[in-house]
Amino acid sequence: MTSANDATDRNSGTDFLRDIVREDLHSGKHRRVMTRFPPEPNGYPHIGHAKSICLNFGIAEEFDGVCNLRFDDTNPETEDMEYVEAIQRDVRWLGFDWQDRLFFASDYFEDLYRQAVHLIETDKAYVDSLDEEEIREYRGTISEPGRPSPYRDRSVEENLDLFARMRAGEFEDGAHVLRAKIDLAADNMLMRDPVLYRIRKQSHYRTGDDWCIYPLYDFTHCLSDAFEGITHSFCTLEFENNRELYDWVIEHSTVPTRPRQYEFARLNVSYTITSKRKLLQLVQEGFVSGWDDPRMPTLSGLRRRGVPPRAIRDFCDRIGVAKTHNVIDYAQLEFAIRDVLNREAPRVLAVLRPLKVVIENYPTAETDPPEWLEADYFPHDVPGEGSRPLPFTREIYIERDDFEEDPPPGYFRLAPDREVRLRYAYVIRCTGVIKDDAGEIVELRCSYDPDTRGGRTADGRKVQGTIHWVSAAHSLPAEVRLYDRLFVHEDPGGQDEDFSTFLNPESLETLSDCRVEPGLDEAVAGDRFQFERQGYFAVDSDSSSDRLVFNRTVTLRDTWAKLVDAGEAAERRAAAAAKAERKAAAKERQRQASLAATETPRLTAEEEVARERYRGLGAADQDARLLAQRPDLGEFWAQVLEAGADPENAVRWVVNEVGRELKEREVSELAFGAAELAELLALVGDGTITTRAAKEVFAELAGAGGRPLDIVRAKGLEQLDDDGELTTIVDTVLRDHPGQVTAFRGGKTALMGFFVGQVMKASGGRADPRRVRELLGQQLGDGSGDG
Ligand code: ATP
Ligand code: MG
Repeated sequence: MTSANDATDRNSGTDFLRDIVREDLHSGKHRRVMTRFPPEPNGYPHIGHAKSICLNFGIAEEFDGVCNLRFDDTNPETEDMEYVEAIQRDVRWLGFDWQDRLFFASDYFEDLYRQAVHLIETDKAYVDSLDEEEIREYRGTISEPGRPSPYRDRSVEENLDLFARMRAGEFEDGAHVLRAKIDLAADNMLMRDPVLYRIRKQSHYRTGDDWCIYPLYDFTHCLSDAFEGITHSFCTLEFENNRELYDWVIEHSTVPTRPRQYEFARLNVSYTITSKRKLLQLVQEGFVSGWDDPRMPTLSGLRRRGVPPRAIRDFCDRIGVAKTHNVIDYAQLEFAIRDVLNREAPRVLAVLRPLKVVIENYPTAETDPPEWLEADYFPHDVPGEGSRPLPFTREIYIERDDFEEDPPPGYFRLAPDREVRLRYAYVIRCTGVIKDDAGEIVELRCSYDPDTRGGRTADGRKVQGTIHWVSAAHSLPAEVRLYDRLFVHEDPGGQDEDFSTFLNPESLETLSDCRVEPGLDEAVAGDRFQFERQGYFAVDSDSSSDRLVFNRTVTLRDTWAKLVDAGEAAERRAAAAAKAERKAAAKERQRQASLAATETPRLTAEEEVARERYRGLGAADQDARLLAQRPDLGEFWAQVLEAGADPENAVRWVVNEVGRELKEREVSELAFGAAELAELLALVGDGTITTRAAKEVFAELAGAGGRPLDIVRAKGLEQLDDDGELTTIVDTVLRDHPGQVTAFRGGKTALMGFFVGQVMKASGGRADPRRVRELLGQQLGDGSGDG
């Protein structure tokens, strides 16, 4: 269990955010710190969120303050109660407590509305009736100031009237927006009369149809902070430019407190992705079994895999908080997991790929009862305690890999006429090998030395190897799922190709004929063990007492297996090795900390100017940096925006797709221009084609040029939103998989991902996964889809 004191002890408290908090308390600016964790309930929390959770709750704990859990739920389109519940579960699981401080931005709709009215009354906000595109056009570019909207000078009375009627539902989506009246020539593009409210005639998961106008993030977040009395509002670096607007809104509202925003670098971990949108795609398209698939970087996935929450908190502590972008090696996370499990997981014996061994000179069960050997749950250098009796019998299983008919030099395990020590038991010698007709080894014959009980030889002869085993009669059958990294690429989300291209096809190996020591059938989902010499494993939620299922959480240190194999002398050396390892770990921690503190390479003065410009145009921090270093891409991107594209969306395409083209040629040599790319993006935006299809169109554009819409028509790539055709595909898929349909109806709802994947495939990627899921839900629910 973690307590506030515990956390204080573990954190030396030296990062820049803690320095700020300490200084504010010291100077008397605040008497009590109040932070908040503000997730949007549109996905399951992932390892990146853990950093923010540990930071916000951690700082509150360390400085005797409080931390609120606030759902930032002002977007009716993507939010859901399922996510609200998942987020609460995961924050609690990490060991944090918001007590009675659970809030929802949607509970502030009325207060937010009142603040908006106040801005109108003080002539700081107006209702604009330009459409989205016109607003963008009027906003100007970084080199040109914006122009005032023709509606900017509406009278206060007219604005109040229009805003009230917007709320009353008199207008359609997009007819009007509420904008702040700030400065159309501001260097910071976000200050050029930002939109505060928009009309969205959509039901909200909590407020239903009470509202049809919804406040935007920049208006909502700062005011929610102020309503709650937040002192320090921590967010990730992308929001650096938003701070000016944050302060402006607070200053022009009637709120009594003044929260401050501070930015820190988001957590990126190699070999994985931390984008809710992409994680959702993995789930929806059936690449994983669900949000809690043990390969997912979600907290529910990590939990199911067997990762202890303590390991995640330690990991977040070790990586620290910095102001510069960095990527943390996945191995760092594994290191933290092993560190905790080494201390906490009892050691047990399990054979994953069993090979039967008959000990011919050992009494049979008919003549003698089994021998019970006492086995410790923890080695001497680990503080844990306890032991259990293990039955030893004439027939046992050992690991297939622990026998070599023709052993290579340096092989210390079992081989014909060689000896090996059985963990906790006796020394055995292999006297015979039995094979089937195909030449496969199916059984070994051995003899045992009765004078070696406990592993020591009476005559002092050396036996080098020690292997694990289980009693054939007493062991329990089990399924073991071996997981590997989900992606084969270090940065799957940052490549030209879709991230799904880099999925590791071997990320899951299921072994269904394993044998584990008796007693493990009493373990419950979530219990964690070390299977000696194999790794750390946890009981999966699919497990039941008649069908045990274990997940491999993480493998052991590579050195461990060797140490055991080298026999008892080596075991004594293990303590020394563990010490050396702890030392190395401390050093690695230091190295990571200094790495995190190092600045990324500086840009030249010219690049700095470009970066500012791109940021002003709406590029995220990292993207702006990248574009600044590639002026050809930067300029092309700016042109795509001029042609009407959404900045963030366009960045991805320009950096990845156009960037790839420009490796081989100049901009002037491209077969397409900015306008064509903008048109292509618009086709994705309005749902004419899917992203996947867009990639195909782009390839054509890059090769032969042409107009995107013509290419779409010529290739028949229009998205299948016509339910007729889609329903036919869905029906066919269901008819072709009757077994899965039955299993689904019998409760295996995780198969939904499988069905979505099949339909997506059958549609050539032209279907909208969300619609596919809906149709499948209908078909599978009412039974009419079964053919
Ligand atoms: P995404 O854009 O990937 O879906 P998000 O930032 O939109 O993630 P939120 O629900 O808004 O998701 O996040 C809640 C909080 O967690 C925010 O304060 C956000 O800054 C923080 N957060 C999200 N991702 C990370 C990350 N990778 N590292 C650190 N903090 C993060
Ligand atoms: Mg966010």
